[in-house]
Amino acid sequence: MTEHNEKRMMCMDCAYWLVNLPTQRCPECGRWFDPADPSTYQQASKKVGWRRLASSLSSRQCVIFAVLSLYGIVNASGPAQWEAGSICMVAFVGVPLWLGILLLYVVRTAATWLDRERAKLDDSERSGRWRWWVVPICAVLVVSSWIYPWPLLLRFRLSQTAFEAAVADYQMGATFRGKWVGLYYVKNAHPITYTGPGGRTTVGFVTGSNVLDPVGFEYDPLPNHPTGFMIYEVGKSWYTFED
Ligand SMILES: [Zn+2]
Repeated sequence: MTEHNEKRMMCMDCAYWLVNLPTQRCPECGRWFDPADPSTYQQASKKVGWRRLASSLSSRQCVIFAVLSLYGIVNASGPAQWEAGSICMVAFVGVPLWLGILLLYVVRTAATWLDRERAKLDDSERSGRWRWWVVPICAVLVVSSWIYPWPLLLRFRLSQTAFEAAVADYQMGATFRGKWVGLYYVKNAHPITYTGPGGRTTVGFVTGSNVLDPVGFEYDPLPNHPTGFMIYEVGKSWYTFED
């Protein structure tokens, strides 16, 4: 190792200058390096290729991913899967950003695995382990909500007792104009009439709107509730509806 070479060493993870150090560890982030192995640090004038990718995502990327995931899950807990006002933001910013971070996570995980296999780094003291878990946990929660509407069912189950009390109030003549029922904000409640065979009148609690119509939860104690696109039975005698 020449003095000239040492002056050019920078930490692979955080680009801290690795100069005159008592140990082979970055004082900033704790990453191990070996002055004799140029692939364990970066040089100011030289790229080190894929090894640059061998680290977890930044805290900021993890937080962005978690926030986007939470946003998706909260949307999936409404009676319509995607409600008005969220569509444009989600389609043009949220989804590309979410997928981009997911892809970066996959690439970094693969690079880190290769890095460990090849260099056999002693990284047991490396910090930031939580950053390896945020993305996969959030991704599983979001993707599973596309397959099975668990956020909707969970949030409704937690609100069902309140909705049953709301039906009793409604039948006693109470009006609903902007009122929390359980974990949902009810804008209004109104009768819904079905004609033809199996005709009936039920009560609908409007909690939001999709692009076209108000959406919410409908109470129908009769059997054979009319079916339709994106109508979920969220509890006994309770269904999502769209006006
Ligand atoms: Zn560092």
